Amino acid sequence: MTNAIRSNVLRRYCLRAAAACAALACVAAAPPPPDLDPPAKGTKVLIVTGIDYPGHPWRETAPRLKELLEKDARLGVRIVEDPEALASPKLALWDVVIIHFQDWEKPGPGPEARANLTRFVEGGKGLVLTHFACGAWDGEWPEFKKLAGRVWDPKLRGHDPHGTFTVRIADSAHPITKGLSSFETLDELYTCLAGDAPIHVVADAVSKVDNKVYPMAFVLPYGKGRVFHSVLGHDARAYNEAVGALMRRGCAWAAGIEPK
Ligand SMILES: [Zn+2]
Repeated sequence: MTNAIRSNVLRRYCLRAAAACAALACVAAAPPPPDLDPPAKGTKVLIVTGIDYPGHPWRETAPRLKELLEKDARLGVRIVEDPEALASPKLALWDVVIIHFQDWEKPGPGPEARANLTRFVEGGKGLVLTHFACGAWDGEWPEFKKLAGRVWDPKLRGHDPHGTFTVRIADSAHPITKGLSSFETLDELYTCLAGDAPIHVVADAVSKVDNKVYPMAFVLPYGKGRVFHSVLGHDARAYNEAVGALMRRGCAWAAGIEPK
């Protein structure tokens, strides 16, 4: 073997070894959590989305929800399209997290994200859940049932056929629903919630299928934090002005500021 051939063989070997190392590094290192710098001022609201059941157009509903929330000029809203963002240490810089995802056919955000979210709410921040967020973690994280108050139970009937129904204000004295009127909406009336955490229902609806009353929006405490959970919001049309007002006021309440 001449020196030239030997050095060529060595070079090729080194390149292959370097490529193998790079591939291993890719497998071993988790991607860094997305940058989560909050807005400079105001109440900082983070919508966490990026995956949902195929019938749920999160690319349309998340911006629509943001637009409706920002009608309260105190709320600075940002959307992050990766549920693993919940693992970021920067989560602590926010005031409210909105769960707007359902980890359909894949595991939900992992142990770091779960612990971080639990600490966030337990420590006194706000949590908001919308529509199929009640199905997040798909039963794989028991504590989520306590955080969310009620979760999707696949053994129960899912919802009434998509259509119009009346959302009734169940407690007109609560800061979230004070001054709001019952309203018509075009959505899915969820009938699939299970759980026994003590919740306080602020809005409900009567099913056209079984005539039973189901919660559409409710609140609960978690540690020092506040949780506002609404199952409304199937698609962009479902985020009408009345639903917007409910979400906006629920979000402000969860942040510990007066709903407007
Ligand atoms: Zn839906």
